[in-house]
Amino acid sequence: MPPHGWHPSPEQLQKLRESHKGQKPWNTGKHVKLNNALDAFIYKRGSECHNWKGGKTPEKTLIRESREMEEWRNAVFTRDNWTCVQCGQTNTRLNAHHIFEFSKFPAFRLLTLNGATLCYDCHRATLRKGSVLYTVIPC
Ligand SMILES: [Zn+2]
Repeated sequence: MPPHGWHPSPEQLQKLRESHKGQKPWNTGKHVKLNNALDAFIYKRGSECHNWKGGKTPEKTLIRESREMEEWRNAVFTRDNWTCVQCGQTNTRLNAHHIFEFSKFPAFRLLTLNGATLCYDCHRATLRKGSVLYTVIPC
């Protein structure tokens, strides 16, 4: 099996060629300096890139968007069977909740035990002061 995408047969290719005959390519007449575009978007990364803003992404954003955090989230969801542990909803927008807060307990950020699957609404409720949801202990 081919690795990716659609691989037309020779007959399909021929049909496509005929059906597109006389059509104008989308980029005809457009002035794009291809080399500059490639430099900007492919070869120049980090501080080399024209769009670099000085590495100002906050540490918490880098962590929250990291591969480790994605794996933590998936581990929590899988353990809780993709169900909100508070109200039992599935098939809804789920959040992985940090029982011990992300900001105050950095050491617990990636512990699966410190995670609980909550639906969006239940998770929002945890943001209120004195919420009982801080005490959710998954088994
Ligand atoms: Zn819920």
